Amino acid sequence: MAKYTPMIEQYLAVKEQAKDAFLFFRLGDFYEMFFDDAVKASRELEITLTGRDGGGDERIPMCGVPYHSAEGYIQRLIEKGYKVAICEQMEDPTVTKGMVRREIVRVVTPGTIMEGKSIAEKSNNYLVCVTESDRMMALAACDISTGELYVTSVPSSVEWLRDEIGIYEPSEVIGDSSMLELIQAEQIQWSRPILYTPWDKKDENLVRSQFGEAAWVRLDSERQRCVSVLISYLNETQRRSLGQLTEFSPYEPGHYMILDPFTRRNLELVETVRDRSKKGSLLWLLDRSQTSMGARLLRRWIDKPLLHRKAIEERLEAVDHLYNQFILREDLKALLNEIYDLERLVARIAFGNANGRDLNALKVSLQQIPALKELCVSSSSSTLRRVAGEMDECRELSEAIERTIVEDPPVSIRDGGIIKQGCDDHLDEVREASVNGKRWLAELEAKEREATGIRSLKIGFNKVFGYYIEVTKANVSSLPEGRYERKQTLTNAERYVTPELKEKEALILEAQEKMVDLEYILFTKLRDRIAAEIPRLKLLAEKVAELDVYQSLAAVSAEQGYIKPVLTDGYDLIVEAGRHPVVEAVMKDSAFIANETRLSREEAGILLITGPNMAGKSTYMRQVALISIMAQIGCFVPASRAEVPMIDRIFTRIGAADDLIGGQSTFMVEMADIQVMTEKATPRSLVIIDELGRGTSTGEGMAIAQAVIEYVHDTIGCKSLVSTHFHELAHLEDSLKGLRNYSMAVQESGENVHFLRKLVPGPAGSSYGIYCAQLAGLPSSIIERSYSLLQGLEQGASQAAAGIETVERAQVLLSRTEKAAEPVKTPSEVVQLSIFDEEEVAPAPKAEAA
Ligand code: ADP
Repeated sequence: MAKYTPMIEQYLAVKEQAKDAFLFFRLGDFYEMFFDDAVKASRELEITLTGRDGGGDERIPMCGVPYHSAEGYIQRLIEKGYKVAICEQMEDPTVTKGMVRREIVRVVTPGTIMEGKSIAEKSNNYLVCVTESDRMMALAACDISTGELYVTSVPSSVEWLRDEIGIYEPSEVIGDSSMLELIQAEQIQWSRPILYTPWDKKDENLVRSQFGEAAWVRLDSERQRCVSVLISYLNETQRRSLGQLTEFSPYEPGHYMILDPFTRRNLELVETVRDRSKKGSLLWLLDRSQTSMGARLLRRWIDKPLLHRKAIEERLEAVDHLYNQFILREDLKALLNEIYDLERLVARIAFGNANGRDLNALKVSLQQIPALKELCVSSSSSTLRRVAGEMDECRELSEAIERTIVEDPPVSIRDGGIIKQGCDDHLDEVREASVNGKRWLAELEAKEREATGIRSLKIGFNKVFGYYIEVTKANVSSLPEGRYERKQTLTNAERYVTPELKEKEALILEAQEKMVDLEYILFTKLRDRIAAEIPRLKLLAEKVAELDVYQSLAAVSAEQGYIKPVLTDGYDLIVEAGRHPVVEAVMKDSAFIANETRLSREEAGILLITGPNMAGKSTYMRQVALISIMAQIGCFVPASRAEVPMIDRIFTRIGAADDLIGGQSTFMVEMADIQVMTEKATPRSLVIIDELGRGTSTGEGMAIAQAVIEYVHDTIGCKSLVSTHFHELAHLEDSLKGLRNYSMAVQESGENVHFLRKLVPGPAGSSYGIYCAQLAGLPSSIIERSYSLLQGLEQGASQAAAGIETVERAQVLLSRTEKAAEPVKTPSEVVQLSIFDEEEVAPAPKAEAA
């Protein structure tokens, strides 16, 4: 075995503690990496890979980054989903004999970053922990940059796990390795890479004391284990106080509408399908928040629409009030605008990395609270008055900061200049001494000039030589002998000290040092005092965020002309003049066509919608889902009247974006989704299926579509919107009492077809697939041949009875037409076009036209 130098031996020993992280090993002014870390880091960070003799047989690969610019490099690695362990020198190398002691001071991981551009202001950065035992699963989600910690549990269920993780979109997941394998097998794609770390170490007692016994015993044992695992991971990686984590919020999944990750994406709730940007999502439309806390809370509301009517009505009451009170809304906005990100400020205070500017930001924020409260208290909204009642002004904290911190403090807390005059007697005394010292120096300068007759003589200071008297070379001969001791020679000047200056220097420097030390002590004392009030500040932050979301929802609702939905505990979903909120908002030249929705027990719970591509089917179906979601988060809805029942789950099967995952066929993915739907949907759910039965042969597709619709109708009994190309399925209206045919109206004028985007009763006459093929510019020979084939098919079809017989017949006849259309887009791809695609993209022809 090769023997390494002591330094490399030390490196290897430290590296043992951080095997799964890049080890940034501090050597003087650099963080160095060695061995495999160096090879990988040089590739990931595009920095030069060098080598170094380390005592072994071969040169050791090495690369490094300067410590003062390390931040950026660390961030880049974190964004790529890696961990970075920071190893510092724990002793001063200038005074240490032999090797300097080095230790890991913190492991930076994607789920535990506190600042920097990787954590977006307006979104949370979650670390999620998942555990399972005795057939119970628990999930804890924590954002240490805001101090939020949620925990929940259910009887084991993979779908639940997938859906719940989908809510948080974590950047890091830790926990039982079996659970991590399960999640990874699901292959859900996120907008950022996730780091997975198996972890089960825990120290329950430590965690118990952190949260207090009373809260702790209210958690079931699986939740306790999950929180313990999470906290032990945080302690191990952060290695410092986590005072911002003072409490957890346990919740029952049954209190929220369930939205699986695919449905979230399909409905573009927080990002668009196409480029995963916030712009174009429901969140983007609804977000008029003035604070980052408000923006994050709004996102949490969209992630978890409520199920309890009373709770939603409470939110709606506030939105309604603000909707009607323009001036109040504007006043609130102005005050909220002055409030900084309290949650992240508080987390920095707890973490010990807040500076004077952070405290001033806290002060300015707190100073807005009395006026904010006053506005709410004097309003006639019971919800706003309740929120105001729960707001703690924390006046003594803002006053303490006001008394202590200067108006414009420096970034550093180690160099003084932070604490106000008159705040502390002792500091004032030391300051006085320091000021006197400076005055004495000025007087000395004048005296020396006079004595020597050198007018350019000056007194200066540097770190190495301290205070000195500087005389230009030309004047050196005018200095009297003896009294001046030369210290430093520059090109044009000489620097001297005198015994008198030396003596006074010690006093001046001492005062200066004392002043800086005292300021630091006073600052940290204040910071600690605030840190002790973190639970109060966190609660206040929550209330501010809540107000901000109310004003945001009210502002959008008023601006877009939404109405207050009527919530019911019944079954029927009735919408008059409903619109798709986002499509409507981004439409520039033309007006959005409003449509009705009646899904009721009396009439029909299932709408079977036919119509050509581009007619507006999927927009319509999405709009119904979005109206339900908006209502259940407590927002007004785009309609002229809406009666909205409490929907427990929205299930969508729309589009092709997810189909490519895992190389599964479109059809298999669709069937797997339908399987989950058959298992999970309840009569209170809303099911939306676009293009049911595509992806297999027409005959089979139609047969499966019919069977699925019958199952939804007979067995589940939930509200559903189903679109299909198979207008043959229209006959189902005769056999299924709760199903009605609808279609998107089109107007034919001569050769042209005009999409009216209007939902009308009755099935579509034709799917206009060939017309669309024509629009797409297919050769006229193909178009003519299609029309003649279609004619033959339709004649054949009309001879057969409705139902499976027709299906089989059509299947035989269609196998030829399907081949002809193979290279063109499938209808589902057209559905996927983003709503931003204003120019009408040529739709695909329909092979299935029968
Ligand atoms: P389909 O699902 O029938 O193929 P889409 O729902 O994708 O059709 O709609 C096609 C396009 O028509 C959309 O991109 C949208 O811009 C526009 N559109 C849909 N519904 C409406 C409407 N109600 N009013 C105005 N434009 C609409």
